[in-house]
Amino acid sequence: MGLPSSINLRAPRDHRRLVLDLIHESPDGTTRAEIARSLELSRSAVSGLVDDLLQTGLVREQERRQSRAGRKPIGLEINASAGQIIGVDIGATHIRGILADIAGRPLAELNTSFDIKVGPVKTLAEVRRLVDRLMRDGESSLAHVRSVGLGVPGPVISERGVVLAAPIMPGWHEYPIRRSLEDAWQRPVVVHNDANLGALGEWTYGAGRRCPNLVFVKVGTGIGMGMILGGRLHEGQVGAAGEIGHLTLVENGPLCSCGNRGCLEALAGGGAIALQARELVRQGQRTHLSTLASLDRLSARDVAEAATQGDHLAQQLFAQAGEYIGIALAGVINMLNPGVVIIGGGVAQSGDLLLEPVRAQIRKRSLQAGVLTSQVTSASLGLRSSALGAVAAALSLSFDHFIAHTASGQPAPVAERG
Ligand SMILES: [Zn+2]
Repeated sequence: MGLPSSINLRAPRDHRRLVLDLIHESPDGTTRAEIARSLELSRSAVSGLVDDLLQTGLVREQERRQSRAGRKPIGLEINASAGQIIGVDIGATHIRGILADIAGRPLAELNTSFDIKVGPVKTLAEVRRLVDRLMRDGESSLAHVRSVGLGVPGPVISERGVVLAAPIMPGWHEYPIRRSLEDAWQRPVVVHNDANLGALGEWTYGAGRRCPNLVFVKVGTGIGMGMILGGRLHEGQVGAAGEIGHLTLVENGPLCSCGNRGCLEALAGGGAIALQARELVRQGQRTHLSTLASLDRLSARDVAEAATQGDHLAQQLFAQAGEYIGIALAGVINMLNPGVVIIGGGVAQSGDLLLEPVRAQIRKRSLQAGVLTSQVTSASLGLRSSALGAVAAALSLSFDHFIAHTASGQPAPVAERG
């Protein structure tokens, strides 16, 4: 259930939904004539669809503006006062929440540090506290919230709102994430994998706007990948697609959180970078990192900082991580030929330090057709790709609900509750 319906996996292509998506994609408003042109529908057909949407209160007519050429046609826009939505991104070590109006404009945002290893009960309590604070900051209440989108760093069965055997989420297997939050909030919740939401966020608001073939790689503590292929979010049979972090790159390499050896994540994830740095410091290698107060708490961010300050060892660690990611992505590009490859997540905030070796390996190893057509770039939404993707997923759910309630409409299919 991504946004818009062109990447909605299950709902039929309801014309009202397509019209709604076009209006949402035009922050300055659009007109019936423009919609008719875009969707190749007759003006009268579009008028009927727009009338349905106006009745829901989600769409409204803009005030008519006078132009020198005469009266302009009446513009249409999302009625931002029709409700609010919440997007939450749970990472391995952070939770980010965004409260937005139903036009998708953020009203309040919070980020908090925590550890996902504390398990589902404590984590979801933390999520509820964060949402309470968001409500206070946004001077709002849950009564105004239409739906909530949630991202988690593991394979998700969206229909059931549970994760399956996520290596970095001990204790979460089959925990009823969605049901627990829906019970607490009495609001519909949609759960997706965080990298899939990152792809959706960058596709909706960021570096891959409307690109029908997009790959988003989230390099944080672990490494995940979200894919939009042929204009659809590709989640695989049980939401486990895109687990690029567990691609074996070195047969007998370092042990990975999944139990295998030599996975990309165990070689190039933020956790791996920190581990390698600690090991090298212990071996007595010359590096500024040895001056840090606590070696046990040394993080990939410390390594990135040292690298930007010219620390040779830290730079080498990033170059090596970038090379491994580039090797994996060269294969992805050969296989999928995406129009854009977006690198996001905490570790990617180091910019060219990571991106340059990634690009070099892609140039070296991908077939030329892929190199020429796949643009490799960093996430333009920074650390917010997944949280804004959660906003987009929540909007999509709300839009479906509005459509289901249009006067002349058939009820839109609602995902089965598990
Ligand atoms: Zn692995």
